Amino acid sequence: MGVRESIQGVIARFASLGLSASVTDVARAVAEETKIVDEKWVNFTAVTVINSLHKEAVMRVRKKDRAVFLPHCLRNAEECKAKIDEEGYHCARCGKCSLARLVEECEKNGVKWFIVGGGSAIFEIMKKHGPKAVIGVSCFPEAKLAIERLSEFKIPLQSVLLSKAGCVDTRVDLEEAFEKIRLPEAGAGGE
Ligand code: SF4
Repeated sequence: MGVRESIQGVIARFASLGLSASVTDVARAVAEETKIVDEKWVNFTAVTVINSLHKEAVMRVRKKDRAVFLPHCLRNAEECKAKIDEEGYHCARCGKCSLARLVEECEKNGVKWFIVGGGSAIFEIMKKHGPKAVIGVSCFPEAKLAIERLSEFKIPLQSVLLSKAGCVDTRVDLEEAFEKIRLPEAGAGGE
């Protein structure tokens, strides 16, 4: 059996759990099925499986009820002009980092966006704005935390992992992020 078939097998195995599937369990299943030991690859694949399990639920949520969380580590920290408050950084669109394009894409698609540091800030914003679906760009540990916390509330999400992680000067594949931001509404009722 090839890797693709193994991954399809993992998706099928967790299909009944849907939004409740745990990243740890999915990652373990990916490692078992594919026999691949590279942790980075296993994590990436586990997130891909979770995205697949959540995708339809995200598409059923209206775009206006989705929130995109972007990590502040993508900023050009030395030149950034963004002001910050309790809702995170407000990008001034100076164009010195990829956030300007990501924010622009969110606005074109009518989804709310927030540039934040991670964990606790995200949940404070969620309490205030109550999004019904989340799209997050982050490193794997932050994605894992978000998936586990949001599954408690049955809120579907899509994750995009940073292509270069770390605390500063990180990178993301813009096309991958745009694809998630642009996910169309499919019979979206928002409920
Ligand atoms: S594009 Fe926005 S987030 Fe990036 S450096 Fe400029 S003001 Fe800061």
